[in-house]
Amino acid sequence: MEKKEIRKNERYRNDISPNDICRLIPRVDSLMGEKEIRETVREYGYDCVLRVVRRTLEEFREEIRKGSSDGEGLAGTEGKDAENTGEDMQTAVRKKIAEKIQNNLVEEMRMSLTPVVNGTGIILHTGLGRAPMGEETLRHAVAAAGGYSNLEFDLETGNRGERCRNFEEVICRVTGAEAAMAVNNNAGAMLLILSSLAAGGEVIVSRGELVEIGGGFRIPEIMELGGAVLREVGTTNRTRPEDYRDAVGGETRAFLKVHTSNYRIIGYTRETTLQELAALKEETGLPVIQDLGSGVLVDLEKYGLSHEPMVQESLKGGADVVSFSGDKLLGGPQAGIIVGRKMYIDKIKRHPFSRALRIDKFTAAALEAVFRQYLDADRAVETIPVLRMLTRPAEEVRRSAEKLAEGITEAIKNAGIPSERMKGVVSVEACVSRAGGGSLPEENIESYAVAVSSPEISAGELSARLRKLDRPVIGRISGEKFLLDMRTVQEEERAYLEEVFRKGEILRKDEITGKKGAPGRSETSGKEGTQ
Ligand SMILES: *Cc1c(COP(=O)(O)O)cnc(C)c1O
Repeated sequence: MEKKEIRKNERYRNDISPNDICRLIPRVDSLMGEKEIRETVREYGYDCVLRVVRRTLEEFREEIRKGSSDGEGLAGTEGKDAENTGEDMQTAVRKKIAEKIQNNLVEEMRMSLTPVVNGTGIILHTGLGRAPMGEETLRHAVAAAGGYSNLEFDLETGNRGERCRNFEEVICRVTGAEAAMAVNNNAGAMLLILSSLAAGGEVIVSRGELVEIGGGFRIPEIMELGGAVLREVGTTNRTRPEDYRDAVGGETRAFLKVHTSNYRIIGYTRETTLQELAALKEETGLPVIQDLGSGVLVDLEKYGLSHEPMVQESLKGGADVVSFSGDKLLGGPQAGIIVGRKMYIDKIKRHPFSRALRIDKFTAAALEAVFRQYLDADRAVETIPVLRMLTRPAEEVRRSAEKLAEGITEAIKNAGIPSERMKGVVSVEACVSRAGGGSLPEENIESYAVAVSSPEISAGELSARLRKLDRPVIGRISGEKFLLDMRTVQEEERAYLEEVFRKGEILRKDEITGKKGAPGRSETSGKEGTQ
């Protein structure tokens, strides 16, 4: 800006009082009649736009009163043309308000629950929605839930059908179970199983398996809620079959085995195996219930990971009722899947909780689709994202990291940060991914990350900026670097990430990407930062 103009603007600023500006604010009905606003009405609806217009005018008046949007903002729109007639001023105010209305509308219509890029390397990240659903699963769920379906309708007879029936057969085929059903989640499944099979009686559990998982799910509490009395046996590290046998009495309803999915007891240990419990079953006639946590249906050892107990093994090993999550290693929708002997599953299906905890049509469709993919294990590993990420060779992850690192380096070349300071800003580093979701707690999955640091802002600041993007990017901080573990970053997200770093603004001091409001300010402070 030339000196003369600056002086003019200053004068202009001094000349005008908040009251003058307030008088220039257009009326609501006049704004609603404007062409641009009428267009937004078509998109968002009259009431929604009216509410936003009112709110924006409120906010604008408040800003004027507080002096935070005085001449400065308006001078920006108008100051270049220095003739400050009242009319120009009015146009400027109108323009400013129209802009604010647009921004507020976009803001108001923006979804709060939004897709994010997961660069944490934690595959089942509870905070980020656990298992992402694969395309094939989603396609079926959207088709079934987007319209009417035969959710509880028997197409053979034209009569009312059973909700479970659509997915029960395929679950049985994959797991080898006699019968199957599903409820809202695995915590609900345990509650339902205990309520239907053990209420009013005792359930025998090893002290080594009194699991607590995230979000306040504790086996002893679920037991109590289910109306069963917990009968603890053995010690934390050692429980023998005799401990179970000695505890059996007239009140005993079942043996419960819980997979210690999120911790391991190592050292001097003795666990009573499922097979040993199954043998006790022969003596006592009591059912064996197993909470498997993650529902693993493929042999992970085949893909270089440690062995996780499989649902099929539990059933073969003698468990009568097995429950597991739909959205852990299974890689499907949130659900608690219950499989096992028909006589018990029938009893569970009839319990009133089964109605209270039932799944919706979206989940029912997704469950069927995901289990159909498991009809061929090798294909499941390809089409189910959780399994694909878990089994992706480290070498492939490294190549993907190198590509992104190159892309980002290219994108920030003209960042305006002196080139000697750009050294080491982007690099590829070896790291460790995790299965997460309380699964495979000991597994260190070899992986590679793109590490980004800035000579001008801290890794914490960079991480905060990335979280505030329209499509937030979530990563890890390690020392002075921000890490994006590429195991959990999808191929199609790479172009977006390069775009995020385009021109390197996100790495510069005081420039908050995606946020308008203070152009110019960052330029000065940016320079200060490099001096
Ligand atoms: C995760 C887990 C649960 C709870 O499953 P949700 O589907 O999250 O309700 C219960 N038991 C065990 C052993 C688990 O690992």
